[in-house]
Amino acid sequence: MDTQSQVVERLRSTFRSGVTLPEAFRRGQLVKLMSMLKDNEEHIVKAVHKDLAKPKFETILSEVDIVTNEVHHAIANISSWMQPEYAAKNLATKLDDCFIQREPLGVVLVIGAWNYPLQLLIVPLVGAIAAGNCVVIKPSEISTATEALIAELIPKYLSEDCYAVVRGGAEDTEALLKNRFDHIFYTGSQAVARRVMQAASVHLTPVTLELGGKCPCLIYGRIDFKAAARRLVWAKFFNAGQSCVAPDYVLCTTATRDALLPAVREVLDEFYTQEPKNSPDLARIVSPRHWSRLMDLLKRTSGKVVVGGTGNQEDKYIAPTVVVDVADDDALMAEEIFGPILPILTVESVEKSIELLRGKEKPLAVYVFSDESSVVKTVMERTSSGGFCSNDAIIHMALPSLPFGGVGASGWGSYHGHWGFDAFSHRRACMLRGWALERLNGLRYPPYSDEKIRWLRWTTAPSSCSLM
Ligand code: NAD
Repeated sequence: MDTQSQVVERLRSTFRSGVTLPEAFRRGQLVKLMSMLKDNEEHIVKAVHKDLAKPKFETILSEVDIVTNEVHHAIANISSWMQPEYAAKNLATKLDDCFIQREPLGVVLVIGAWNYPLQLLIVPLVGAIAAGNCVVIKPSEISTATEALIAELIPKYLSEDCYAVVRGGAEDTEALLKNRFDHIFYTGSQAVARRVMQAASVHLTPVTLELGGKCPCLIYGRIDFKAAARRLVWAKFFNAGQSCVAPDYVLCTTATRDALLPAVREVLDEFYTQEPKNSPDLARIVSPRHWSRLMDLLKRTSGKVVVGGTGNQEDKYIAPTVVVDVADDDALMAEEIFGPILPILTVESVEKSIELLRGKEKPLAVYVFSDESSVVKTVMERTSSGGFCSNDAIIHMALPSLPFGGVGASGWGSYHGHWGFDAFSHRRACMLRGWALERLNGLRYPPYSDEKIRWLRWTTAPSSCSLM
């Protein structure tokens, strides 16, 4: 078997051969990726179920379909994405061809996390293939069954000279990162992102960081409590709360909390029955270590558990849990929860909630539930986050025509659809000149004079094109 550096070198020599450059090659690989998803839907469902007990419905929605839609979108648009983008010109460049050419970066590394073990690797891979790169794919070792399936399927369907899967844990990934890549696309925690950046700095490799954080859900003003509870509960407990864009906590008034809680209880019963541990529609925590971290948070909270709170280590089960009377300095507010625990903080006005958020790191998403458009507008304008969604949560990330990514501590850069193609492309500024207008060029040559600078200013001013 090849060592890591042999794999990287093999891909580098393929990239240098230029085989990934033609549109037909990239399109062909995307079509094969589509077949991989189609032929192996049942295997994917089984593997993700083994890792997270994720219900088939959730896997189809969040792993198979979301990825398939991305591939479709890329196949339909690759031609236009690859076209040069023409740039505005001034008088001095009027006869030139000025455009932006997207060129592939080279050999790129995609490192995925365990919570959406297929999606978080294959969606970036779509952008990287469409942009003409060779790709090393590093699945999370924690979602073992999906890791094994990806390692089996990728070489079966895609060119082995261009795309390779490297398996391993923290140590292996640190060793892999010693190799030179032309871009690193990392999804995972902020702590590991720091190590990835350190490794990237050695080769001055650019990075995209898709990180986490605590996504708040503000509920203010008039609201349909039952509908709000349905959307909130679904988004929070989908994949047992192990979603980077899950609503991490709720901010609302005491009156709203009191009206929301009965609706949340009712919805939980409707969705998962009164015995949620027997519901096939509730996923499990990924590992005993992650389960213990969450149960420990519940032990340390000073809040009051009003729904759920129980768990079973053997089954890695944690009941959908709601905690009230949670203060901002509570254990549940110190880190991203990333599990089926929903704290509700009472803050008596939307302005005070916004103030609270402005003192925190920028999250991956901000959610606001309200029937009042002025409330939605105020929250949208006065907060900052990777994405924003009103009167719902999570689903904004499923639309390939919207960029997905963080800001500040929740990440750098974005992807999905066209933005995925851009993340793995260099925007090369191209100016194709001829030999005409040499007299105009003469303005910039010595001997310099005040008159020449006056003319030059005129020909290079942005408004000079409109004179022609
Ligand atoms: P993880 O443990 O699976 O780690 C992610 C990747 O980093 C894995 O491939 C792992 O092998 C690798 N890794 C671990 N230690 C490393 C090290 N020392 N050096 C180099 N690589 C190392 O996942 P995680 O970090 O627990 O992921 C959960 C976090 O990811 C949460 O914060 C979540 O919000 C975030 N996340 C973000 C997104 C997003 O799109 N923004 C999506 C999913 C998860």
